[in-house]
Amino acid sequence: MSAAPIPSSPPLDAYWMPFTANQRFKSNPELFARADGMYYYRADGSSVLDGIAGLWCVNAGHRCAPVVRAIQQTADELDYAPSFQMGHPIVFEYADALVEAAPGDLSHVFFSNSGSEAVDTALKIALAYHRARNEGHRYRLVGRERDYHGVGFGGLSVSGISGHRRPYGPLLPGVLHLPHTYDRGRMAYSRGQPDWGAELADALQRLLLLHDPSTVAAVIVEPVAGSTGVLVPPKDYLPRLREICDRHGILLIFDEVITGFGRIDGMLSCEYFGVLPDLVVSAKGLTNGAVPMGATFVRRPIYDAFMQSGGSGIELPHGYTYSGHPLAAAAGLAALRHYQENRLFARAQALAPRWEALAHAMQGEPHVVDVRNIGLLAAVELAPIEGKPGQRAQQAHKACLKEGCLIRASGDTMLLSPPLIIEDAQMEQLFSTLAKVLRAA
Ligand code: PMP
Repeated sequence: MSAAPIPSSPPLDAYWMPFTANQRFKSNPELFARADGMYYYRADGSSVLDGIAGLWCVNAGHRCAPVVRAIQQTADELDYAPSFQMGHPIVFEYADALVEAAPGDLSHVFFSNSGSEAVDTALKIALAYHRARNEGHRYRLVGRERDYHGVGFGGLSVSGISGHRRPYGPLLPGVLHLPHTYDRGRMAYSRGQPDWGAELADALQRLLLLHDPSTVAAVIVEPVAGSTGVLVPPKDYLPRLREICDRHGILLIFDEVITGFGRIDGMLSCEYFGVLPDLVVSAKGLTNGAVPMGATFVRRPIYDAFMQSGGSGIELPHGYTYSGHPLAAAAGLAALRHYQENRLFARAQALAPRWEALAHAMQGEPHVVDVRNIGLLAAVELAPIEGKPGQRAQQAHKACLKEGCLIRASGDTMLLSPPLIIEDAQMEQLFSTLAKVLRAA
């Protein structure tokens, strides 16, 4: 028996959409019915070139065949297996393949269902790690302005986006924030990493001295702040954060939910930046976006600290009903093999110089005040319309959609992060469409 077809114009009211102006959207909805490779398709058959890989996640392109097959086969064989005190083979195989591909001694991986859960998992492991070593006085967490770490209470508490935090009151106690790394006056139109600004990391040292470093458990940053505008760290900034954390026995967590899986370089970008964090958070490209999944990598001494508690007790009272779900693990394993066999991370690296040139050719187009890029990420920042922050980019986003390109707007910045399978002509199309739209605005 085949399922009833989904109507192409369904009733819109019941679904409370996340991070969306619901009323505005529902008065003028944009629905994608199908996707393939680099494109979305509307019910009327018109196509939209995907300039943001879904939501920074479909790195191998939409409906990647081996991933789809793995999901279908697994659903047919094992719909679910309990994740607590039981397991299934795929999740062990997948974890092994992931840590094999991870740098340094990132030797173990904890699975969850989203970036937000993977962040909260990292923060909880960091706190519990210090307690397991009789350093329970380390209770503070340090985040950074303009970083996004998802929507769980932990991740939101360390995140630095005031509009996301304000509706929810005080959040977690004991959280400190570093200043963000962006200074348009000195960094505008830097290509890749700005040369200026490594000393911004010294703000961490000052913060620690002010609050007593022995009270701090962990520092979490996005290596490149993605969703708030592709804020690329100055050269040497991240290694200096690492140094300061080492000096004070503080764990360093990288949130690589956006920067992983080929977006900058390799499965995780930390090697590119010359830093080995203690914990790394991943999601999105992990399963090529096809099944929700988050992953928290930890270095061996952290895992060992929990295992040394000995006995048959539960070492970490944490986990989710769907941790390492068979469909997610199968999708992740198939995606990882696909990325590796097709050398998609190297492909992205090879495309990056052309991507950079096209992005920076936007300098001088109407309303453009900065361009930032690294790997296959780019941001084109626009001058806001006076008294109407965010509107210029929203208008450009809508106009680009009309022209058949999906480019994301965040504040007054246009964000681009295409699938790694993008072709040269498609890269040109994304930027020429944006330029056309800005000239017409
Ligand atoms: N961290 C970062 C850096 C992200 O970009 C995101 C999602 N955009 C998250 C965490 C949260 O991921 P999720 O939406 O899967 O919970």
